[in-house]
Amino acid sequence: MKRLSLAALIWLLLAGAGVAALFTVAREQSTETFNTDARILHRVLSQRMEQQEAVLNAVDALREGMDAAALGRSLDTLLRPYPQVVAVERCAAGGCRVLGTPAESPPELKASLSPEPAVRWLEGGGPLYALSRGDVRVWVDARRLTGALDSGAAPLTYTLFQPASDVVIVNHEIEDGNRAASTIWQVEKVLGTALQPFPILISRPVPWDAWPWLGGVLWSLLTAGLTALVWRLLDTRRTAQRALMDERARAGGVVQAVSEAIVALDDAHRVTLANPAARAALAHPLPHGTDLRAVTAFQATLSQAPFDAASFWDSPGPVALPEGLTLLRNGEAVQVEGSLTPLRGTGGELRGRVLTLREMGPLQRRMLEHLEDGERRVREHEDMLAHVSRLSTLGEMGAGLAHELNQPLTAIVSYGQAAARLLDDSEPDLARVRHAVGASVTQAVRAAQIIVRLRQWVRRSPSRARPTDLVQAVQNVLALCRADLNRLGVRVVTDYADAPLVQADPVQLEQIVLNLLRNALDAVQDTPDPVIELSIVLEKGGWSLSVSDNGPGIAAEVALRLFTPFTTSKSGGLGLGLSLSQTLAQGMGGDLSGANAHAGGALFTLRLPRLALEAASD
Ligand code: ADP
Repeated sequence: MKRLSLAALIWLLLAGAGVAALFTVAREQSTETFNTDARILHRVLSQRMEQQEAVLNAVDALREGMDAAALGRSLDTLLRPYPQVVAVERCAAGGCRVLGTPAESPPELKASLSPEPAVRWLEGGGPLYALSRGDVRVWVDARRLTGALDSGAAPLTYTLFQPASDVVIVNHEIEDGNRAASTIWQVEKVLGTALQPFPILISRPVPWDAWPWLGGVLWSLLTAGLTALVWRLLDTRRTAQRALMDERARAGGVVQAVSEAIVALDDAHRVTLANPAARAALAHPLPHGTDLRAVTAFQATLSQAPFDAASFWDSPGPVALPEGLTLLRNGEAVQVEGSLTPLRGTGGELRGRVLTLREMGPLQRRMLEHLEDGERRVREHEDMLAHVSRLSTLGEMGAGLAHELNQPLTAIVSYGQAAARLLDDSEPDLARVRHAVGASVTQAVRAAQIIVRLRQWVRRSPSRARPTDLVQAVQNVLALCRADLNRLGVRVVTDYADAPLVQADPVQLEQIVLNLLRNALDAVQDTPDPVIELSIVLEKGGWSLSVSDNGPGIAAEVALRLFTPFTTSKSGGLGLGLSLSQTLAQGMGGDLSGANAHAGGALFTLRLPRLALEAASD
């Protein structure tokens, strides 16, 4: 708004100055013309006066020795060029007689003859007056003085006065005097003859339409257009400049933010811009104007060709640092990679260069860390897969194992019964009883050894607890079982809290989840619309993962011994999954429980303590 009024003010000044100049010039021209016209009119009138006086002198001279008739004829010819001279009279004591050829008789004027030339006036002044000398009188009609002049000449108004009085001889008005005048030019003079020195007031009315109104309006419009145009150009320029500044600031921000060292140089390798990464990489404040070649020492390693600094710094095109080159920084050699790129102007002339540098150390370290992390994950998954395959083999081995255990158990039962029978005798044979009990213990130890061997086989390496993402573990297991889930058309519903971190061995955790998911999968085998729900919620004390299904639920005969080893309702089952899972969960400071859900199906809940760090941050 402020800028708009400034533009309007500039336009007003321009337009005002132009219009004022136009009117000043018009005024000067108008006064100049008026003065010229007034001078001409004054001269013409003065000439007329002289002509009248010449006529008077001529008649005075001619009248000697000429009779009246001859004089009258000569006068006809003499007066023809002077229309303002309307009559010539000769007067005697008795009265005056017309000599010339007047259109009408001149009015009566008391004859007062005098030998000297004089002007005679009628009562009341003009427009008729007489010039007399001796007995000759020449009548002049002041109205005819400018007759010929009026046509074509610029209109001028004038008034002739009698000398030394304000009696008007003639008041000559211009014809279109009815036009409203804006102003009137005026000048007063005296006609330049001895006999008729009449004061004359010449004036010219200047009508309103004589001023350059159209020029003024056109000038105002032109300046308005020009001001708007210039203003618009300035505005566009200002906007473009602002956009350029913004762009520069953004680009500058990016250069400052990147972790790569960037140094911009002029054409003499002097620093014009350096980002913080560059100052750190070169261990130099890199003030504006520093010759970068003096503060950057590259050194080739023994396996490399010597570094040619001169051709590097003056290279006409982009050039990369040789692979494995080192930079000397505070006496230490740091491996770097980077490049030097020339910056050229629009005409292709060299304007400067940009040096970019990356330290290889941190980058390599980061890459190694990523590599190790990836390898560790692969290893863990391999472990888990091996374990899973062992578990499935276990299922197949269930029947065989049952047979293995059946033998010692049957023997224990038999020895036990035999011992009991022997003790029922009136005189028990204690040696045989001892033998039966000993044999029973031997069989029990054998059975226990089978189980210990089995457990040892199933047992995983010791727990390696660390912060583990529970959701990640669940997703890994789901991915593992994806094929079976799809095959059975199981709908999996998940509901996770975000990023639940627990302190756990990720492989053991995945093993527990896998057991729960496998059991749920087994349970929903014959369910028409199988659904398995996995949800993770934060409870008092820790994170809890619930795995529920819409299968038939936990059978009554196994419900009470659910976590006891070898409890199974499945024909090929081993009954070790839940007991093992509970052992693992307890080993991680958590717990595993299971029951039938109110809505039907089974619900297993794994509770794990929250990460100490995570709990502290709440
Ligand atoms: P296994 O799967 O080899 O039988 P587990 O210890 O994993 O051994 O399971 C023990 C028993 O608990 C199963 O045989 C089954 O009867 C019961 N069970 C476990 N999960 C479920 C479930 N989701 N629905 C119904 N019963 C289950």
